[in-house]
Amino acid sequence: MLLHIFDLDIVSFRDVDGAHCFEETEGDYGIYSAGHLVVRRRAQANRRSNPLQAGDREVAASWNSNTESLQLTETLTHALIGASLSVVTGLAAHRVRMLSTSGAIAASVVGTISIAAGWSWGALLLSMFISASLLSKLGERRKTERVGRIVEKGAERDWGQVLANGGVYAGAAFGSLMAASPTWFAIGAGALAASAADTWATEIGTLVAGRPISIISGRRVEPGTSGAISLAGTAASVVGALFIGGVTAFADWPVPFVAVVIGGVAGALADSLLGATVQERRWCELCKTLTERPIHSCGTPTSHAGGLVGLDNDAVNAVCSVVGALIALLLS
Ligand SMILES: [Zn+2]
Repeated sequence: MLLHIFDLDIVSFRDVDGAHCFEETEGDYGIYSAGHLVVRRRAQANRRSNPLQAGDREVAASWNSNTESLQLTETLTHALIGASLSVVTGLAAHRVRMLSTSGAIAASVVGTISIAAGWSWGALLLSMFISASLLSKLGERRKTERVGRIVEKGAERDWGQVLANGGVYAGAAFGSLMAASPTWFAIGAGALAASAADTWATEIGTLVAGRPISIISGRRVEPGTSGAISLAGTAASVVGALFIGGVTAFADWPVPFVAVVIGGVAGALADSLLGATVQERRWCELCKTLTERPIHSCGTPTSHAGGLVGLDNDAVNAVCSVVGALIALLLS
């Protein structure tokens, strides 16, 4: 009886939803929205179409569609702001010759998708972009002198490099827009941690380390050679993965910190292994030197000297982010 009065009290102050609940639980009693008590049989209520329940359904349907359209509006707002921010950042990076034209376009697309997925996705991408840009500017001349003849590309990143490093991340961001799941966070965080680990290792390794060794043979190789590792570079790769792991933890992403860090380091390791084995190596006949470049810095077209034709540095970087994503996903 107390419960009965309690119910009645609530119902009289609440909307049709409360009345509906009461009717469901009490069976023989129904409350209409004004609070009048009416006695009727459940059978009768079931037989007749119930205007109250129909009203409830309408309210529920409009609530659902309101929520959906709110979410859509929010996503579209994010996408618009994201597009503006990304294009401005892309143009600025293009102006200071960090990105080529195609690189700026690719970066704008990756940035727009990421921010559409949520501010934290955008913030994470931005911290990766800023850290990589700062590291690449650090001791730029010294690095170019040391490895410019070997590595395929200059400081200006093109669309291939942008997508190799940010493609899996953008894919995960897009996935989270389509269907919310913690899986996308693990994939995104792992992929980005791997790219960061690899980038930090390359930038610090070529700047600091003397003569690195090949990850496969252990013999000393020229700085900038694919698959070359050094103590400084390896330490930098761990710090890069820790950095992204830290940012994802700070953003409260549903991925274990350890999964992100191990994914990142594993991705960078896979990058070095592939770089030392299957990545395409080319030969400049004029300078008698190995290089990644199709046309050597001296202007001579180079010839295939080992590895798989077409498996360039971008392809290896893409595999690096896939490995990072998978490991982080497995450990989540
Ligand atoms: Zn040459």
